[in-house]
Amino acid sequence: MIDLGILKGSSFVVLGLARSGLATGRALKAAGIDYICWDDNAASRDAAVAAGLNVADPAGIDWSPISALVISPGIPSTFPRPHPVAAAARAAGKKIICDVELLACAQDKAKYVAITGTNGKSTTTALIGHILDHARLRCEVGGNIGRGALDLAPLGGGGIYVLELSSYQLELLETFRAHVAVWLNITPDHIDRHGDLAGYVAAKENIFARQQVGDCGVIGIDDEPSRVVYGKLRGRGIATVPVQLETPVAGGISFRSGMLVDADGYTVNFGAVPTLPGDHNAQNAACAWATCRWLGVPREEIVAGLTTYPGLPHRQERVASVGKVIYVNDSKATNADATARALSSYRDIYWILGGQAKEGGVAPLAPLFDRIRHAFLIGEATELFAGQLEGKISYSRCGDLKSALDAAHARAQREAGGAAVVLLSPACASWDQWKSYEHRGDAFRAMARALPGAQVLGRAA
Ligand code: ADP
Repeated sequence: MIDLGILKGSSFVVLGLARSGLATGRALKAAGIDYICWDDNAASRDAAVAAGLNVADPAGIDWSPISALVISPGIPSTFPRPHPVAAAARAAGKKIICDVELLACAQDKAKYVAITGTNGKSTTTALIGHILDHARLRCEVGGNIGRGALDLAPLGGGGIYVLELSSYQLELLETFRAHVAVWLNITPDHIDRHGDLAGYVAAKENIFARQQVGDCGVIGIDDEPSRVVYGKLRGRGIATVPVQLETPVAGGISFRSGMLVDADGYTVNFGAVPTLPGDHNAQNAACAWATCRWLGVPREEIVAGLTTYPGLPHRQERVASVGKVIYVNDSKATNADATARALSSYRDIYWILGGQAKEGGVAPLAPLFDRIRHAFLIGEATELFAGQLEGKISYSRCGDLKSALDAAHARAQREAGGAAVVLLSPACASWDQWKSYEHRGDAFRAMARALPGAQVLGRAA
């Protein structure tokens, strides 16, 4: 836990008592700092009371002695309309911040690597953390991934915090400085919370704000909004490392099909790393490479870290093999865009899909259908997807995940002469049959590992 003793004399309201809010409450309590905390959800309040926190309703309080509102990034403080507590704090002229701001204030001697982007944040964050660990540098990984910022260990000078930051967290930072800021990509997302694409990009651009000479911005430039941000960044006097698919870019890094080419021509082939399949992961790996180079990690150490990366659960996670068939859990792919990444990473795919469909369903995936041997449909989306696959690829209606896996397993073992993949990449939300995508992926992993003759791949989870 982070010691917030430096904030003695301040007073806070904490709104939102999920992972980061509870950690904030615990850290404030441990440091003996004045605070109240609240959540609109009674069960969350009960959990906070059970943790010994000071739970009180901030509605109607006198804000004059309060230093700031520490809000959970999941709660709107601006769009589409501010939560009433945020509105009251703003009306009283108070700062609205998130837990990362408190971490940066308490651990002001440490270095910070911050990672944002529409896709690939968790992978890149975990990968950078793994490489730094492997190189025996003192680091802690958290933020939007894993542990909340104030649950991390104190590192002091010489330590490195590697933080995944969402656009919601970024817009709640006022003094936080990223020594290395990593920007992966931008596609329209979460527009409801930011008004429009410009608002979303502006929130994310806060990752570069307050960077100083000697700091570095690593930026993927494969999409137009990111290229515009790169153009602005170049005029600011901080070092920038552009990262681009395919075409070498001056002073930057290019990547394709597992080959990564550094600015000076140094080339790394990490195409054989099974936990980083596809060009999307090459983008993540290239950004991790640039970050670790900037932090002074020797190249051989970075290669060693890249090639031993264990991967994250539910993201193209190789969970088991039976003979030459690999079983892959990509339960995190809850829309067609994410599933496209998985489909383009393999051939001879026995594809399990379905759940609660997103707009457009799987129609945009048609250019990848030649990679699929057979599709196995589950959940609410069955009839919609059957209509979209009809006449294009063969499919079966399976109802639930267990039946789909059994059918896919039997068919793959019967038909596939060589390597093949049984892939759960649903292109759907999980809520029709599961509590969450993690719940669905955990079930798939357990079922695949229980298949006759299964060898466990990847970490035990
Ligand atoms: P995030 O934390 O930003 O949601 P993750 O690392 O958890 O990203 O990856 C989620 C999904 O996004 C992956 O399963 C993959 O389908 C896709 N993805 C990962 N990295 C990238 C990338 N660099 N570009 C585009 N899509 C990506």
